[in-house]
Amino acid sequence: MINIDNYNFKGQKALIRVDFNVPMDKDFNVTDESRITAAIPTIQKVLKDGGAVILMTHFGRPKNGPEDKYSTKHLLPTLNKLLGREVKFTPNCVEAEAVLACGTLEMGQVLMLENTRFNPEEEAGDKVFAELLGELGDVYINDAFGTAHRAHASTAIVANHFDEMHKMFGYCMQGEVSAAEKVMKDAERPFTAILGGAKVSDKILIIENLLNVANNIIIGGGMAYTFFKAMGGNIGSSLCENDKLDLAKSLLEKAKAKNVQIYLPVDSIVADKFDAAANTQLADNRSIPEGWMGLDIGEQAIAAFCKVISESKTILWNGPMGVFEMDKFSNGTKQVALAIAEATSKGTFSLIGGGDSVAAIHKFNLADQVSYVSTGGGAMLEFFEGKELPGIKAIRG
Ligand code: AMP
Repeated sequence: MINIDNYNFKGQKALIRVDFNVPMDKDFNVTDESRITAAIPTIQKVLKDGGAVILMTHFGRPKNGPEDKYSTKHLLPTLNKLLGREVKFTPNCVEAEAVLACGTLEMGQVLMLENTRFNPEEEAGDKVFAELLGELGDVYINDAFGTAHRAHASTAIVANHFDEMHKMFGYCMQGEVSAAEKVMKDAERPFTAILGGAKVSDKILIIENLLNVANNIIIGGGMAYTFFKAMGGNIGSSLCENDKLDLAKSLLEKAKAKNVQIYLPVDSIVADKFDAAANTQLADNRSIPEGWMGLDIGEQAIAAFCKVISESKTILWNGPMGVFEMDKFSNGTKQVALAIAEATSKGTFSLIGGGDSVAAIHKFNLADQVSYVSTGGGAMLEFFEGKELPGIKAIRG
């Protein structure tokens, strides 16, 4: 596989799959630019070498063909600003206008194709559509880690059109893949995975796969209560998946057999309702009073979790420790984030992967104090589950 740093794009049209599926307000202002910012170094590299750039992305979830609100033309003002140049636009992907726009594109120029998902062939992974996309460029770059778990035309199938000397990862993709592999395949020990969030059912495959690679697994957030109930505790009205009690038990047994240490929170901040203005008290997680629900981990749990974190050399964090969106229940998540930052300052490698822990690390302004914050929610989760991602395989073979 070739490395983007070793490729000279002079005189070449680079077809780049980016993930510009950014949030937007009703006036079409991009409210979080980070996914666009993440692709800028790759675009700049092609331009600096003397090449031209053809960008393709999906945007939103159009159902039946083109919908104005999902047009990639709405991304142009942000892209123009971040690149400091006027980006051209073509109102389709493989039809006559697009072919002409790509054919007449001059070196040093950037062209944005219309939303790839306006063509149903995109999500179907249609070979002909992928072939037509491939015809547009001389070289293919996949810089869209966020969609690497999809075998869509522009994320994976199009790569078949290019030989191994003409396809590669962009910088964003390269950064994500190497951070994920450092943790899952090459972790310095002890390796601690911290899992939180609402439901055990969302994280089963991740826990099972982590049992093969981690030394410690910390479990916090709403999912912890299913484990306490499985062990015979009273969890009041805390979140619980009653159909997952046996599974929780079997995960604990598997961990024991594999010599993986599982850390559950011994105490919680419990509330009398799911509300920022609720009454609260501290409770032991084996005996939460009737009518009270655990919405954050307690002081003892924080101390125990932070100790494990401080002794770890590799950390993976996915999912908050409590309902961190409400300040009253954000302390556990904040203390864990601070402990990860502290460990990172002493040389530990820390990867924050998955939607809500990414939001949390930003909320506490600690994103620049950890080793890597992933931009790819679903793709990163599938990577942690041990799945092979089509977008990666299409480039690497
Ligand atoms: P996930 O997407 O599975 O990582 O879940 C994230 C969500 O879990 C966040 O919106 C949190 O508010 C929520 N959450 C975390 N801890 C709890 C809890 N103890 N009870 C209810 N929801 C929780």
